[in-house]
Amino acid sequence: MKQSDCRYWSLDTLLVHGDAQSIQHPEPGALHHAGTPTVQPIYTSTAYLHADAEALDQACNASLSSNARPFVYARQGNPNTQSLENVLSQAERGVGAVVLSSGMAAIQTALIATLSPGAKILVTQDIYGSTLTLLHQIFAPMGIEIVIQNLCGPDAPAIIRAERPDVVYVETLSNPLVKVIDLEAISAAAREVDALTIVDSTFTTPCLVQPLAHGFDLVIHSATKYICGHGDSAAGVVISARHSLLERMRAYAALLGAALSPFESYLILRGLKTLPLRMDRHCANALRIAHFLQQHPAVERVYYPGLADHPQHELASRLLKKGHYGGILAFELKEQARSAAFRFMDALRLCLPVATLGDVQSQVSYPPISSHYGISAAERQKAGITDGCIRLSAGIEDVDDIIYDLAQALEGITSTQGEEITIDAAQSILHAYASSQA
Ligand SMILES: *Cc1c(COP(=O)(O)O)cnc(C)c1O
Repeated sequence: MKQSDCRYWSLDTLLVHGDAQSIQHPEPGALHHAGTPTVQPIYTSTAYLHADAEALDQACNASLSSNARPFVYARQGNPNTQSLENVLSQAERGVGAVVLSSGMAAIQTALIATLSPGAKILVTQDIYGSTLTLLHQIFAPMGIEIVIQNLCGPDAPAIIRAERPDVVYVETLSNPLVKVIDLEAISAAAREVDALTIVDSTFTTPCLVQPLAHGFDLVIHSATKYICGHGDSAAGVVISARHSLLERMRAYAALLGAALSPFESYLILRGLKTLPLRMDRHCANALRIAHFLQQHPAVERVYYPGLADHPQHELASRLLKKGHYGGILAFELKEQARSAAFRFMDALRLCLPVATLGDVQSQVSYPPISSHYGISAAERQKAGITDGCIRLSAGIEDVDDIIYDLAQALEGITSTQGEEITIDAAQSILHAYASSQA
């Protein structure tokens, strides 16, 4: 039987079926009609016609909090982007979403909607580098006070009560050391001091945690990462729990001029259909890779909340979907040097050395030249990001192939320089690993 009321669908079903309203059915209630497409067409038009001048005027002035706004002009929205907004809003249990052409545009829109000159924002330490740069270079000169503190510890509520900020800004899992934020404790403390709460949930996606259900006001994703998942389009989204913030963000987004194109919206809606499946595999692979790295002699330390000895393992188990700890991990080489990290990255044959994460392929990055580009060495050290620290985004490949690649690259940096490890040697490392797991 056709279940037409999507309010009762689970997240996995919702993402597969998308925005059911987006396909125009000729008669209300007529789900099957000859010629109705099962996939929304891509609308490339920059402008849209209306019945008459009066109707056009009404369309121009349609309520910004509506999730079924009439279309007028491309910069203000298009049918494909609106479908994406509606699916993401339902996935996060929000009142509506604003989709933009990058994660940074989404972050900027959320900040503009919540901050005015003289306001104070409390930001957790070790957030995405460009977010910090945006705050320092654009928002500080506008008269916004920026306070940076470590909100990943148990004293976060006390810090919020003492600082009394207007806005609290955090990330579900920090970058690159994957520290976990206690969403519940933070939103409760923020409510006590009337602060709005914003969380960047790029690393976790709605599959692992839905921050609005934990009392947050806005949740942001760089959809360029897991939500797209295929490394072929950049996008960002803010989902709101409040109509007032949603209206402010939509008004700003139309002026910012960073609307997502219909084609990219289509690609991301397509990617969303497999997000829960992909997240299952990303998380399972990351856990096995973390165990492998932990016992490797060339590795000093592994950061992954799925490891039982991770200081926030219990918090992560409580907050995230059962048995899922994300697809990102970080590790430190014993040789704490940029040169060792570069040798390791250059030796990889499967994992891609790139400045992104969350794609189907495994990806490694070195924070000083990617997420933390432009952040001083002193600030990186303060955040615990050492010179031997490497971030790994576990892809959905066969995990043995990923581990084999990591093993041969690690062996390469520990053995005599320049000499490539033989396939036999790498195979024996892999076998040793496999039997240690058996
Ligand atoms: C990549 C990223 C961003 C920025 O997103 P873009 O799509 O690159 O603009 C913001 N936050 C986090 C956690 C990210 O990983």
